[in-house]
Amino acid sequence: MIITNPWDAQWGDDDHLHEECGVFGVWGADGAAAVTALGLHALQHRGQEAAGITTFDGKDFHTHRAMGHVAGNFDSDEVIRKLKGDVAIGHNRYSTTGETAVRNVQPLYADLATGGFAVAHNGNISNAMTLKRELVRRGAIFQSTSDTEVIIHLVATSAYRTLLDRFIDALKRVEGAYSLICLTSEGMLVCRDPLGIRPLVLGRLGDSYILASETVALDVVGATFLRAVEPGELIILSPKGLRSLRPFADMRPRPCVFEQVYFSRPDSMVDGLSVYQVRKAIGAELARESPVEADMVVPVPDSGTPAAIGYAQASGLPFELGIIRSHYVGRTFIQPGDQIRNLGVKLKHNANRAMIKGKRIVLIDDSIVRGTTSVKIVQMLREAGAEEVHMRIASPPTAHSCYYGVDTPERSKLLAAQMSVDRMREYIQVDSLAFLSIDGLYRAVGEPSRDNNAPQYCDACFTGDYPTRLTDQEDNDVPDQLSLLAERVI
Ligand code: SF4
Repeated sequence: MIITNPWDAQWGDDDHLHEECGVFGVWGADGAAAVTALGLHALQHRGQEAAGITTFDGKDFHTHRAMGHVAGNFDSDEVIRKLKGDVAIGHNRYSTTGETAVRNVQPLYADLATGGFAVAHNGNISNAMTLKRELVRRGAIFQSTSDTEVIIHLVATSAYRTLLDRFIDALKRVEGAYSLICLTSEGMLVCRDPLGIRPLVLGRLGDSYILASETVALDVVGATFLRAVEPGELIILSPKGLRSLRPFADMRPRPCVFEQVYFSRPDSMVDGLSVYQVRKAIGAELARESPVEADMVVPVPDSGTPAAIGYAQASGLPFELGIIRSHYVGRTFIQPGDQIRNLGVKLKHNANRAMIKGKRIVLIDDSIVRGTTSVKIVQMLREAGAEEVHMRIASPPTAHSCYYGVDTPERSKLLAAQMSVDRMREYIQVDSLAFLSIDGLYRAVGEPSRDNNAPQYCDACFTGDYPTRLTDQEDNDVPDQLSLLAERVI
């Protein structure tokens, strides 16, 4: 099979940024592995390449990791039965750091001087290459190409004596984004980076504690939401109960605002906000900022749907399902030749011809990454007889790469990094094109505007204002960091 466009082959023509991972943990529940499999299933949207679970039965660790979806990996009683113990951690993965290989599938595990240590990580260590070079010089031998393994080596080589001190020492050396759930023979260590870039929540299921990337996973296993793990908080779960520490210097949190725009499931609460309501508010802001004289509002389903509902309600235009999405298209659908590949988008999205023929359409999508899907969808609507297509995007232009655990094409492939909005309009061939403003996005999450002196969120893929050093990138990508708002192409 010849694949001319690796992105298309990888994502089945899905032009979105992709969250890299979802994590889940259970402390003290019978059948912890089965509960974890359910939780990972609810987080499947955060990573569809591979899934793994590690359990501890008080004596031994047990792990099952495999490429593929949660349902396929954990649908056998035999697999679940082997994962003995009442504590478990699990992980869903897309690969951005580290090649696609089972050795990179998490939880990663190592026998340390302090005992067994398994780790599930959502995020990305932005100084991983620098640390890895240093560790290799000191004799470390890496088993994977994942940035997460750096944490294991830092714990293993720390000069401190206890596991807890070693863990804190290791985390003080890493930069970037991490929501970590670690399973050790002494207990569970849970930590969210000081900026709280990636989400992590704590829940209760009977007498057991549940950790998850999103509240939807608590809902699915029947757990009650207790609270978010706070940015910079380290939680220790042990037979003595739950302890919370604050080992890092206080920083103003900057959680990822793209979780609200696209990554998280709309039925989750993230950073205290209903993702669905935020997306509707985004649509309403977009309607106020960029109104259109049109006949109907049509979402690119499913991700554009809540914003389109918000746009329709604020503008008074009817909301219609002018595009129907098939939910049965596999991500790895084989596209053997150009002809079939070019038909690909229609496998996923098809125009609802009866609704859109002769109509002026406001088309709502959550974001534009490379623009490939937008071009095809607009062409599809025109072929189905749409009279006008006005595209409205429920986020500012995505003009910068993410280094915090999100799969972003390199900057040269981001449409908004290459073109003005007017040039993008011509490229996508729409009658008009407008993006949500950065302040509009902040209004939708309940802030009066973006505080440019102390931004409330990480919004670096829109603004280039990265909240941490990007040590590994500093030789190559300095202009990306320094560009800030001034260099945006809108
Ligand atoms: Fe989220 Fe964008 Fe920041 Fe990455 S760069 S963490 S996608 S807001």
